[in-house]
Amino acid sequence: GGGDLGKEVLERLRRAHRLKMEDFVSSYVNLTTGSPFRVLVATILSQNSTDKAAMRAYSELERSVGLTPEALVRAGLRRIARAIRVAGLADAKARAIRELAALALRLGDPNLKGLLESGPDAAREVLLRIKGIGPKTVDVLLSSTGTLDTIPVDTHVRRVAQRLGLVGERESYERIKSRLEEVFPPGTRYEAHLLLIAHGRSVCRSRRPLCDRCVLSDLCGYYRRAAGGS
Ligand code: SF4
Repeated sequence: GGGDLGKEVLERLRRAHRLKMEDFVSSYVNLTTGSPFRVLVATILSQNSTDKAAMRAYSELERSVGLTPEALVRAGLRRIARAIRVAGLADAKARAIRELAALALRLGDPNLKGLLESGPDAAREVLLRIKGIGPKTVDVLLSSTGTLDTIPVDTHVRRVAQRLGLVGERESYERIKSRLEEVFPPGTRYEAHLLLIAHGRSVCRSRRPLCDRCVLSDLCGYYRRAAGGS
């Protein structure tokens, strides 16, 4: 069944990749600060960017503005945007971060721990009202903080899952996520998310994937098709 395949994929990816938390900005910020508010800021910064650029933007924002809701609301959009420029989409991200800061102030919940304690569904509903916070950003928050056992679907996760044949082409975010939740057993899903990203970055790259070095090639539909066609 799906569970066996998931376990096999996990075991092989664990052997192939050593996860370093510094390579995953949301996870890193969660482990070093324990603040859901800061994890959300980091995750917003990482949208359509690399974790490396997001990490630099996060540090610069902390240095030049500060990462408390008060400091961010006081700073104004231009200063926030200037601090986070390296991560791209700076104006839109500055608006989302500032709106998030205003929410935290309004709730009297500066690190948003109370919001997470209200449960994943309630937290999701509140956060999705902020423009610039979508389902993936919420899922990264919920899974990296251990609030919900799920697999956020980023560009690497989507590509690797599609090539392996675990999901079809052009499927919705929610469809891919629920399919991957069937494949990867409870308790392994956030790790599966990180391992699929690591695999997508270093081996199953968008262009010219390194299939000859891939520990999953005998399970992979893309590889079978490529081999059959050669
Ligand atoms: S065999 Fe190639 S396409 Fe398939 S998962 Fe590995 S690197 Fe990706």
